[in-house]
Amino acid sequence: MSDFAAFKQAFKGDLLTPEHPEYEKALERWAANSQRRAAIVAFVKDTDDISLALKYAREHNLPVAVKGGGHNPAGSSSVEGGLVIDQSKYRSAARIDAKKLAYIGGGALWEAVDKAAIAHGLATTGGTVNHTGVGGLTLGGGYGFLAGEHGLVIDNLVQATVVTADGKVHVASTTENPDLFWAIRGGGSNFGVVAEFVLKLHPQRRTVFAGLLIYPASALDQLMPLIVEKYKKGLKAKETFLQVITRGPDQSPCVVFVVFWNGSEEEGRAHYKPFLDLNPIVNTCGEIPFERLNSLQNDKVPHGKNYYLKPIYQPGPDVDIAKKISQRIVELTSAHSDVIEEISFIYEFWPLDKICSVPQGETAFQRIRRLSGVTHIIFKENTEEHLKITRMIAKELIDITHTMKGNLPEDQNTGYANYNSDQISSLATNEVMPTSKSEALFGDNLKRLAELKRKYDPEMVFSKWFSISPAVAA
Ligand SMILES: Cc1cc2nc3c(=O)[nH]c(=O)nc-3n(C[C@H](O)[C@H](O)[C@H](O)COP(=O)(O)OP(=O)(O)OC[C@H]3O[C@@H](n4cnc5c(N)ncnc54)[C@H](O)[C@@H]3O)c2cc1C
Repeated sequence: MSDFAAFKQAFKGDLLTPEHPEYEKALERWAANSQRRAAIVAFVKDTDDISLALKYAREHNLPVAVKGGGHNPAGSSSVEGGLVIDQSKYRSAARIDAKKLAYIGGGALWEAVDKAAIAHGLATTGGTVNHTGVGGLTLGGGYGFLAGEHGLVIDNLVQATVVTADGKVHVASTTENPDLFWAIRGGGSNFGVVAEFVLKLHPQRRTVFAGLLIYPASALDQLMPLIVEKYKKGLKAKETFLQVITRGPDQSPCVVFVVFWNGSEEEGRAHYKPFLDLNPIVNTCGEIPFERLNSLQNDKVPHGKNYYLKPIYQPGPDVDIAKKISQRIVELTSAHSDVIEEISFIYEFWPLDKICSVPQGETAFQRIRRLSGVTHIIFKENTEEHLKITRMIAKELIDITHTMKGNLPEDQNTGYANYNSDQISSLATNEVMPTSKSEALFGDNLKRLAELKRKYDPEMVFSKWFSISPAVAA
């Protein structure tokens, strides 16, 4: 019997190779341009399957990728010619227990968690687009509408089951394998395949105030001073809003807000009154069922397009920078209409007090008290030429934020790592992130991460995100 036949016989899930009728579908990712042609897609059923798949890949020198929800824009859950460990088919459910804990399969989407939890009157911080995956979003930190009250997703992670490169299964928590638990809270997918996440849940009201407010870009003159003032005073724990500077379907420049208040319509309207008083051209705000909150943006970010994202941290909101970005978005989309479908610049106004109350170094995630921004571009063709122009546009918009006084130097400013698609290529390759990026991202935590990499993944089987080189033995 061939090695592959023996692998297949022992494996409980499904192994898809290129001749399988569902193979093409199995390669699909949120960003079409982050898709790669794997040699094998392994839909695993349990931790034994994960161990078997890792063993087979290592014995046959196949590079490995792990897929959660498939939303990483840099291709880190795809692998050209390698083996994908995919939990989406058999390990994507969320179960809630009496202790207000959610037991979540490593391939689950946030929709499953939100729906299961709110059925018990509970919730926790999770992705603001509910078709994103729990896996990648959690391991990279995890912001969400409830972060002001409950912190990052990793701050609610109480346990994870991790299969390391040698095929061993580890429970990681503050009491079991605490070093591994520290590393996976911000260290990304560098340490193993997480088969199960256990998240702490919190009592949550069934309805919340949320919706979209859309203004013409000319309203930035009135909106930005309000936002600057609000930011200076400090955001309330119950609020979050996202500001999207873009062009509307009719190509007119506009600003979209996704607003959230964890309370009633009356409270929400009172809280956002200064915004509402500025006569938005679209206002969908109202009291909605909690489980709809993280679906409000779903159709604005559909699967299957070519995406490029470039993040940044900025000291705070700034009138001139917002206006300049808006103006350049108009000019750049017009100048490159043959290449560009849409350009947006998104600012995420998370209340940061709770997030930054966790001492630096307590998890591998660096707490940054800055405004998170991200350039979000949809481009037409996944070719070298289109990607080159897209990259140039993203860099130009990010460079505008660097003109702001007090911004971190460019080489230290990674922005939120989970949005980064710098290394994506239009070619069918397995991209490698330069180590300088990991140094900037992990900062003082890198030394400990490198030591743990030596302990848990010395051969760098998991190296498709911001990779970490194992520390050299003393
Ligand atoms: C439309 C959109 C909205 C977003 N909104 C938010 C948001 O509100 N908050 C936020 O914090 N981020 C957000 N992000 C960023 C998001 O965190 C990343 O895209 C993240 O990579 C998504 O995780 P995934 O599991 O879907 O991705 P995948 O591409 O499947 O995985 C991403 C990385 O995580 C690894 N991984 C995934 N699952 C596992 C696992 N079980 N075990 C080990 N490794 C695993 C993969 O190997 C890969 O390296 C958003 C992204 C998009 C595209």
